Amino acid sequence: MEIKLIQGDITGQDVDAVVNAANSSLLGGGGVDGAIHRRGGPEILQECRALRASRYGRGLPTGQAVATTAGRLPARWVIHTVGPVHSASEDRSEQLASCYRESLRVADELGAETVAFPAISTGVYGWPMDDGARVALSTVRGTPTSVAEVRFVLFDAAAYAAFERALGEAPPG
Ligand code: ADP
Repeated sequence: MEIKLIQGDITGQDVDAVVNAANSSLLGGGGVDGAIHRRGGPEILQECRALRASRYGRGLPTGQAVATTAGRLPARWVIHTVGPVHSASEDRSEQLASCYRESLRVADELGAETVAFPAISTGVYGWPMDDGARVALSTVRGTPTSVAEVRFVLFDAAAYAAFERALGEAPPG
């Protein structure tokens, strides 16, 4: 699998699937979630509502992932996953790793070959960027998948630099 780091806006990525750092309600929020729904249009929210009605009445659990259409985005699908809120007293990195693994599993089910990820949980959910980058890269590298290309799309220079450092540290997968 090829791993690419890009600084920019994930909503413009020309990939098969874009991963959304959603919240458990699946009804939209700020950050990446807000950007995806704004640019992707109402079709995505409609499908999210249907998923809530049929399967996730109590919300999508943290660490799980589910796909919808990508509406007007250049991508074909959006894979919604719910990251953990960072905690100073409890290690939730297994839940964060699960977001990346489960998103790749859903991508495999869809037959997606190129997938773009944001830095899950590192915004409103407060995860320190360096650690979030290490979890992201080590998990993606350690997950068996038929996805051929994973792009990490980092919103700003600091996030990009953190992922570059983590890529340098991680053993080649
Ligand atoms: P979470 O609630 O999981 O923390 P956020 O959306 O608040 O999710 O933030 C996750 C990361 O995505 C942050 O590093 C934030 O800077 C970044 N981000 C926000 N908007 C975009 C975007 N349009 N494209 C890529 N990354 C984004």
